[in-house]
Amino acid sequence: MKKYELIQLPYEANALEPVISKETLGFHHGKHLQAYVNNLNGLIEGTKYEDMSLEEIVKTADGGVFNNAGQILNHNMYFTQFHAPKADNKPVGVIAQWIDEQFGSFEAFKEEFTKKGATLFGSGWVWLSVNADGKLVITQETNAGNPVRSGLRPLLTFDVWEHAYYIDYQNRRPDHLAALWQIIDWDVVNERL
Ligand code: MN
Repeated sequence: MKKYELIQLPYEANALEPVISKETLGFHHGKHLQAYVNNLNGLIEGTKYEDMSLEEIVKTADGGVFNNAGQILNHNMYFTQFHAPKADNKPVGVIAQWIDEQFGSFEAFKEEFTKKGATLFGSGWVWLSVNADGKLVITQETNAGNPVRSGLRPLLTFDVWEHAYYIDYQNRRPDHLAALWQIIDWDVVNERL
């Protein structure tokens, strides 16, 4: 029987400070994500979902199975795209070139992406993905939504649920989103292209 496990963080719990505190990571990864993993394991036991990959579940399920599987897929991508803060952190390689070509500049891309995160009403995620034509697209998803449901390949995501930032930034979601650019590991984004 398939059992999902909590992913390990590829950095120390204090490695992202001050952008994301050790305390926030402890709750977000150790409590919230762990709860989604536990919930999904309980929900899929003895069902057809036991034989599917996480992405297949997200593409086809609804209700509680979808909500918990979507949150696991989203958070697995989210937590594995970070490194320690760098003051002048910028895209590198192919993704840097695509962003310049398709958005004009990294600054213009950042502005659009951050704005889509700041204006998403309630809980959800903002995504950079690649579509079937090889074009970059920025989309908003509410709750557990993931772009794979729309046939897109996700590259980068910001979690705008309050649990992602409330301990460190309280209600200042735009400040949190602006700070996240310092910790994006663009090598990981390139690997997802
Ligand atoms: Mn979250």
